[in-house]
Amino acid sequence: MRKKIVAGNWKCNTTVQEGVELAKEVSELVAKSGVKNVVVVLGTPFTHITSVVGAVDSQLIDVAAQNCAADAKGAFTGEVSAAMVKSTGATHVILGHSERREYYGETSATLNKKVALALANGLTPIYCCGEALSIREANEQNAYVKTQLDETIFNLSPEDFSKLAIAYEPIWAIGTGVTASTAQAQEMLAYIRGLIADKFGKVVAEETSILYGGSCNAKNAPELFSQPDIDGGLIGGASLKAEDFLGIITAY
Ligand code: PEP
Repeated sequence: MRKKIVAGNWKCNTTVQEGVELAKEVSELVAKSGVKNVVVVLGTPFTHITSVVGAVDSQLIDVAAQNCAADAKGAFTGEVSAAMVKSTGATHVILGHSERREYYGETSATLNKKVALALANGLTPIYCCGEALSIREANEQNAYVKTQLDETIFNLSPEDFSKLAIAYEPIWAIGTGVTASTAQAQEMLAYIRGLIADKFGKVVAEETSILYGGSCNAKNAPELFSQPDIDGGLIGGASLKAEDFLGIITAY
């Protein structure tokens, strides 16, 4: 059965000390809640990962980087390689977030390399896709997301593909307070699962965790997560407060 995943994306927020406190709080709340059927991931800044890994109960909490380099190593000042991320104790890496595509010029070609390096280093990519508002308004979101997938993760082998998770995040819903309606989210995730079935077969499609992201919170999560194709969430703002994040983790 495919995994349910709730992954926080802290973005460029918290100092190391604040991040460790937040991670400890999440870890303690998850322990108290008794939740066992959800993979909980904290997507922290690179600087925090080692400390956060040491601060949480590793049976309950996984840690993710929010990016990794497109090259294995070498003269790339300021970059952090997938091997470095792995050596921190992180298990996941968020790749292709719309903010990285938009502000840092990440292309499908770059993402191909990042996904391959993440997988080669034993990290689980949480691969993000999703359309801008103008594309949704033109009702071209399906074709747009299909192209994103075709150009990046759909050229993996079925074996490699089955190691990653996908997060559909409509850009117009990220950080805006405007959540995709439950129907819009379910429709897109079912569409993505259908594309996976066409490309890799039904078994792989049924095993792939597909998450929704975009202004997901403790209030709207129960309805979103009740949908047959929504296997969890990638959570920005609401992952920065332990109680709010727990409300999403326990939304199933
Ligand atoms: C995100 O950036 O991945 C995200 C989903 O943000 P938010 O939950 O704040 O909309």
